[in-house]
Amino acid sequence: MNTRSCDTDVLVVGAGPAGVAAAVMAASLNLRTMVIEAGPVGGKLHRIGALENVPGSWSTGPQLAEALASDLDRLEKAGRCTVVQGLAAKVGGHDHRAELTLADGRVLTSKLIVVATGVSDLVPPDATWITATAELSAPPLWRAAPQDLTARTYVLGADRPLGTWLRSHPNVRTTLHVLCPPSDAYKATEIEADGRVRLVPISHAAITKPTYGGGWTIEVEEHDGTKTIYAATSVLNNLGNKPAAVTGLVSGDDGYCPPDRQHRRIRIAGDLRSARYQRIATAHGSGAEAVLAYYYDISLSGGGGIR
Ligand SMILES: Cc1cc2nc3c(=O)[nH]c(=O)nc-3n(C[C@H](O)[C@H](O)[C@H](O)COP(=O)(O)OP(=O)(O)OC[C@H]3O[C@@H](n4cnc5c(N)ncnc54)[C@H](O)[C@@H]3O)c2cc1C
Repeated sequence: MNTRSCDTDVLVVGAGPAGVAAAVMAASLNLRTMVIEAGPVGGKLHRIGALENVPGSWSTGPQLAEALASDLDRLEKAGRCTVVQGLAAKVGGHDHRAELTLADGRVLTSKLIVVATGVSDLVPPDATWITATAELSAPPLWRAAPQDLTARTYVLGADRPLGTWLRSHPNVRTTLHVLCPPSDAYKATEIEADGRVRLVPISHAAITKPTYGGGWTIEVEEHDGTKTIYAATSVLNNLGNKPAAVTGLVSGDDGYCPPDRQHRRIRIAGDLRSARYQRIATAHGSGAEAVLAYYYDISLSGGGGIR
């Protein structure tokens, strides 16, 4: 297949901050651009109640998500980008094209695919330091309203949304009991000075339902082997995330997809690149760079633009 007969020039998978930046950059280079998104435009931005590290005076994630959706809308109306709702299942790179297969069986071809699918939530069965009964319900901390909390609300893990939640609710006085395994210790430094957090350093937690009464029993084992039993009225999930890679990408041992190990027609942007640098500003930068790097690779090799 000649690249001229591809469905589009650039296919972007995922419309979070990385995917939208890639699409905006591609359209600005006059490349035919198509975005495939399974949910709402903005990705994880919809979960961020308070923002302070993104240039542009955005104070919440949903505000920025709305602006990104307007950007794509503007490009669509100008005929420079198409947004397709769909779940990407598989990507493949070939000499003259890249190919994307959607979960519903549709196949799309392009000259370049930028994969920016981010990360998905870890759940208790994914965490080796937790043993829990299958009936455990642990809704995400990021979604918890202050009125959902009690003096005996326990949080599983000290991942970064904890800091965001505390900043989003500066007037909440309830103490959050946070079970913190060694792997999360470095993340906890961001919030350990906040008096509303009680960090419980642990090596293992067993969560069961008591025979009588509501709530949960949490048997915690500390690093020195000491065991303590807590009664919790509710348990919230703040375990962090795992890469949302699609089939066909090259992954490292940790499941992330290093950009420099992919086929030359497939580029990775945003959180999916690595457990490091998971921030909005770096997602934007990496999305734009993924497209621009490919564009210049091709033009500098004599192609006079993407081909
Ligand atoms: C609670 C919380 C608070 C945070 N607070 C901050 C903060 O204050 N400051 C900061 O800089 N960062 C913060 N972050 C991190 C920030 O949100 C991410 O770094 C950023 O959103 C990553 O952008 P992304 O485009 O790589 O991925 P995402 O935002 O995750 O977007 C990925 C998109 O891909 C879509 N997708 C996934 N799989 C598929 C598929 N197979 N097919 C089609 N579409 C798919 C998803 O629906 C999603 O829209 C926070 C994250 C969370 C969860």
